[in-house]
Amino acid sequence: MSQDTIFSKIIKREIPADIQYEDELVLAFSDVNPQAPTHLLIIPKKPIATVNDIAMEDREVIGHLFVVAAKIARQKGFAEDGYRVVMNCNQHGGQTVYHLHLHLLAGKAMGWPPY
Ligand code: 5GP
Repeated sequence: MSQDTIFSKIIKREIPADIQYEDELVLAFSDVNPQAPTHLLIIPKKPIATVNDIAMEDREVIGHLFVVAAKIARQKGFAEDGYRVVMNCNQHGGQTVYHLHLHLLAGKAMGWPPY
């Protein structure tokens, strides 16, 4: 149940997080186990479990995740060098928290493919 994840507890301030951005639709905070010098998670406040669960009515908030990612990247000075945004879906995608989140990774050159 997406409502029971650690991320909903962060939204409700029941557990601490290094919150970097918040508005009525989304929250952004530092990943507790960073995979790059800057590693933020941008999440909808609505508890959508996976990419598979995104509905037509979620178009605004999903688009907003990317708008906020780009805004944060610009503010932190990563826009020109570049950065990575990624969403993992289910087991093969490497998803471990079942509350949708956009990873924003920045601060170093990253390889591809991701294995
Ligand atoms: P996923 O593997 O689902 O794509 O990404 C989940 C991310 O959440 C992981 O990068 C993991 O380090 C991060 N994470 C897990 N638990 C917590 C937590 O309690 N606080 C924060 N800030 N990040 C967490």
